[in-house]
Amino acid sequence: MRKHIVAGNWKMNNGLIQTETLISELKQQTKTSDAEVMIAPTFTNLWHAFESTRQDDIEVIAQNMHFAEHGAYTGEISAGMLKSIGIKTVILGHSERRAYFNETDESLAKKVNTALAHNMRVIFCFGEELSDRKAGNEETVVENQIKNALFHLEASAFKHIVLAYEPVWAIGTGETASPEQAQDMHAFIRKTLKSKYGETVANDMTILYGGSVKPGNAKEIFSKPDVDGGLIGGAALNAEDFYAIVNAF
Ligand code: PEP
Repeated sequence: MRKHIVAGNWKMNNGLIQTETLISELKQQTKTSDAEVMIAPTFTNLWHAFESTRQDDIEVIAQNMHFAEHGAYTGEISAGMLKSIGIKTVILGHSERRAYFNETDESLAKKVNTALAHNMRVIFCFGEELSDRKAGNEETVVENQIKNALFHLEASAFKHIVLAYEPVWAIGTGETASPEQAQDMHAFIRKTLKSKYGETVANDMTILYGGSVKPGNAKEIFSKPDVDGGLIGGAALNAEDFYAIVNAF
């Protein structure tokens, strides 16, 4: 059975005080949908966020991690470190990580392996650039990103993976894929999974859409049959907007 998930990626925003404030505002919101709610604060605030949402229906997740277990990787965070403070889910492959920190399908495959070895759930992000879409190559690009980073896995691993289709041209730009564009790509992603792993893996896969989802467009995007939730950037920094999106299911 696939789930509805709405995850807020706070990116490099919010110090400790803003984190406390936003979390207390989030707690004042009412959830009227069946969506799982997740927030991804920056590393320095993960522990605080985790502690302060222990009693709440909000999962605190990480924005990234390194593939190595430990060692001389200055400035990096390992899966074990995340697990040691109770974090069970990590976002991997966000387009900003790919664009600014040279993450590749190959390095992401290693990160996925490490996260799964630690029994973590992975929200795996991918999506085409505007130039790919203009050239009509969006499906090939997305197919390769999925195959290169995930198709070495056993079918059983996919229980611990959530996919997030995020067309790069729609992230933080105010441009959103139309609900039809999102649906078409999500159906294609499911078809790609089915071709390798069969119907059950494909049908059970939760596929999120990300790219300028706002309270005003969430309902229409989430109404599409293959869209199971959203990865939300900008609108996740405002508690009312975020819960309007959560409640759009
Ligand atoms: C994101 O960063 O994953 C994202 C979708 O950002 P935004 O909602 O701001 O486009």
